[in-house]
Amino acid sequence: MTVPVFRFAPSPNGYLHLGHAYSALLNQKMARESGGRLLLRVEDIDRERCSPELDAAMLQDLRWLGITFEEPVRRQSEHFPVYQQALQRLTDMGFVYPAFLSRGEVRRIAETTGGGIQHWPRDPDGALLYPPNDRKLSQDERTRRIEDGSPYALRLDMERALAAIPAPLSWHEEGAGESSVEARPQDWGDVIIARKDVPTSYHLSVVIDDAAQGVTHVVRGRDLFQSTSVHRILQHLLEIEPPVYHHHALILDRDGEKLSKSRKDTSLRELRQAGVTGQQIFAMVGL
Ligand code: GLU
Repeated sequence: MTVPVFRFAPSPNGYLHLGHAYSALLNQKMARESGGRLLLRVEDIDRERCSPELDAAMLQDLRWLGITFEEPVRRQSEHFPVYQQALQRLTDMGFVYPAFLSRGEVRRIAETTGGGIQHWPRDPDGALLYPPNDRKLSQDERTRRIEDGSPYALRLDMERALAAIPAPLSWHEEGAGESSVEARPQDWGDVIIARKDVPTSYHLSVVIDDAAQGVTHVVRGRDLFQSTSVHRILQHLLEIEPPVYHHHALILDRDGEKLSKSRKDTSLRELRQAGVTGQQIFAMVGL
């Protein structure tokens, strides 16, 4: 029997809030109950929004909650060469292309094509899908634009990627009634796989790291449920065995909105300063 491996994977781009506490504590509970391991991964590829101060504050908040993770902690910023390699592999297979349209240009195309912006397809997060324009650029044109210093992102050619899968992909979702969920990567269109100056993206790193850390159970918020479709297709292309997923309910504020790092009232730091104890947080998140 293999030992289950869980992970909590926050991004240090703000202070942790009650939603993070719930996710971390739930991972800890599931790891304990199954005799599994619990790992921490710091998702800090965004070098502008993440900082060492926020990283340290995050670790402090987790210690205060009484959660202990195995050492060493994996920091994504220390593994760019690994992501670069995977990106190169996808590029060599012809699944990645440089996409030059800005968000405004995509909007303009959506507004002026066919039935207009209301009819333009959107991804599960509500963003306009990227039009296929840049898929057709010649290699010379791509090189010229890159050498000219044009901004660009590297996107997955979803049509090609879908053509490379023999049958619809699925994943195993645990939780309220275990089930097999059919992945719908097509709903995301040509997702960003890497940036001009960063050889990765959330989707690419998460897939590589869960595999690198031997994660068997991904327990994370329901807001990432749909992203799993993108993760499944990347796992397929990179020949990575998928873990089992459990997307838990989100902690909402009084208005029924998802908590955000920009709001202070539910940050663990504020709660601690207001005299709340780590133990009380368990009750506050219903564990
Ligand atoms: N880093 C992501 C976040 O803070 C979570 C990634 C994941 O659990 O897959 O929202």
